[in-house]
Amino acid sequence: MQSFQPPRRILMGPGPSDVSPRVLAALSRPTIGHLDPEFQGLMEEIKAALQRLFNAPDHACVPLPAPGTAGMEAAIMNLLEPGDRAVIAVNGAFGGRMADMAGRAGASVVTVDHDWGQPVDVARCEAALAEAPTKVFAFVHAETSTGARSDAGPLCAIARKHGALSIVDCVTSLGGIVVDVAGWDADVVYSGTQKCLSAPPGLSPIALSKRAQAAISGRKEKVRNWLLDFNLLMAYWGGDGGRTYHHTAPINALYGLHESLVAIFEEGQQAAIVRHARMHAALVAGIEAAGLSMLVAEQDRLPQLNTVRVPAGVDEAAVRTHVLKHWDLEIGAGLGPLKGQVWRIGLMGASATAWHVRLCLTALCEALTAQGYAADAKAALAAADAKLT
Ligand SMILES: *Cc1c(COP(=O)(O)O)cnc(C)c1O
Repeated sequence: MQSFQPPRRILMGPGPSDVSPRVLAALSRPTIGHLDPEFQGLMEEIKAALQRLFNAPDHACVPLPAPGTAGMEAAIMNLLEPGDRAVIAVNGAFGGRMADMAGRAGASVVTVDHDWGQPVDVARCEAALAEAPTKVFAFVHAETSTGARSDAGPLCAIARKHGALSIVDCVTSLGGIVVDVAGWDADVVYSGTQKCLSAPPGLSPIALSKRAQAAISGRKEKVRNWLLDFNLLMAYWGGDGGRTYHHTAPINALYGLHESLVAIFEEGQQAAIVRHARMHAALVAGIEAAGLSMLVAEQDRLPQLNTVRVPAGVDEAAVRTHVLKHWDLEIGAGLGPLKGQVWRIGLMGASATAWHVRLCLTALCEALTAQGYAADAKAALAAADAKLT
């Protein structure tokens, strides 16, 4: 064997996003014990920083030791017991994954299905909640498979009105658009590190309301997965000097998350959100000047995940291969019904810069032109630049 040397890549897909040198440096600091008092200090800082980032001062916030899907699984498995009714909005791949998990938890699952590219429809979800007593209402805030943003405030409000606990997937939204857990009065909200937080994949920050904590401690039967059972997990992350061994925290990964949180607060959360919006406006202007069009209606678009329609006659995969080979640039393919129909261009965290926008437009126009589709890179860059001044 030899040491693995990854190629240099520019990450503009649906995640992971580019990781800054300061986060990479933090990851390589010396490993210490997870019960070391210094490490416990780090855990406390991360918990407080996540409360600030989610705007969830009254929620319990911890980073779970696995990627975003673990946050989803923890939310579903801790809140649902066999026989409970769950209403799940499905407007893309990740809503579908939540419905699959809820079925595995033994819940009776009602999905509210949408066309891909649409935001979640509040009235249709409310109609499903009104039909019968419901334990959990779950939806995805930023659907990474389509690039659509849903309106989390009204969706959490209908859950409360009908006595259901809300689960909100904020894997792609956190750090890129406003996430306001207290303002929404949401119950369980989870995210991931490799999207707009720009840390490597492998951790899932999660926030639990007091209502959610009470529901979990009052369960009739034990949570069926051990690692993600909050009744056990909170004794490890709970603090007050009472920490007992539960699992070994991914110590160096937490150094990386901590550094990415320091960077976000240095820039300012609001400034980061404005930056994502600006870069999105510039990218879309360039895309449209190149003769391409966006999948999602303007008012529902996510700045951090841009779905661009593949023009007729263009080989979707060949374009991705071209930009990877000639520009070291990764962009994403469509999933499910959008396979072959769209590219997914991420502007997440450290990948949301003017340099990334200009590089992506240049590379994309070159790849399209190589396929015989006339895309004017000069016009695309001029349109983007006009939004960046
Ligand atoms: C990426 C993503 C996930 C899953 O996160 P992993 O880290 O890949 O497990 C879940 N939901 C949404 C909306 C995502 O974008």
